[in-house]
Amino acid sequence: MIVMKNISKIYSRGDKKVEALRSANLTVNQGEIFGIVGYSGAGKSTLLRCINMLERPTTGIVKIRDMEMTSLNDTQLQQARRKIGMIFQHFNLLSSSTVFMNVAAPLRLTNTPKKEIEKKVSELLNLVGLSEQASAYPSQLSGGQKQRVGIARSLANEPEILLCDEATSALDPETTDSILELLMAINRQLNLTIVLVTHEMNVIKKICDRVAVMEKGLIIEQGHVIDLFTRP
Ligand code: ADP
Ligand code: ADP
Repeated sequence: MIVMKNISKIYSRGDKKVEALRSANLTVNQGEIFGIVGYSGAGKSTLLRCINMLERPTTGIVKIRDMEMTSLNDTQLQQARRKIGMIFQHFNLLSSSTVFMNVAAPLRLTNTPKKEIEKKVSELLNLVGLSEQASAYPSQLSGGQKQRVGIARSLANEPEILLCDEATSALDPETTDSILELLMAINRQLNLTIVLVTHEMNVIKKICDRVAVMEKGLIIEQGHVIDLFTRP
């Protein structure tokens, strides 16, 4: 589903260069929940953002199915990104828009007819358990509810892939569990491929099929979670 080959990323700030990724190779299979784990600064977020080209790799190739993301122009990329949802640590909701309008936002961008938007948004709010909160504003919601809005919005264009960047790191353990259960449910129900970045091993153990372990821009291990972390 996703193949990344020899990905390197060098950030330049003035005359200072940071080598965030060093020749990373990664394969994610259709329908799996794939984790990327490591300490802060290891390059996890950069690697994730190279999947949908929020960051362009300095070298290397990213393929999604047969599409080479690294060779698309901006218009093609915009199109391709609609099939890749993303959720964030701090939710990135529009604070002056209702829950309804936050979830509707990606559909309005693609000029979806109003009736269709209403139907789709109410299905999505039902899926994430927020039907009652459609008219609420983000500031009226708990952290877990905010992330549910983020998840509903990320699913609006029926993506094949969901990227999660520390999506539970701002939440308490109980809320984290309920969000992870929701991610597992949509992975199964929608046959959605999920790639998640976290610094928390518990998250990896709880929901991931396979995992890549990163250190200083390198993937130092990659394999099934049960092989890497649960056997003696
Ligand atoms: P992680 O997600 O594992 O915490 P990141 O991918 O965010 O790691 O960062 C990897 C390295 O790249 C870090 O040293 C970080 O400071 C640096 N970095 C990340 N984004 C930028 C940027 N936009 N400009 C310069 N350096 C960056
Ligand atoms: P804007 O100010 O950006 O035009 P509005 O808040 O006026 O956005 O809403 C635009 C449309 O979205 C409304 O006409 C309505 O059809 C729909 N809408 C907004 N909130 C809700 C809601 N809670 N439930 C159902 N439909 C809603």
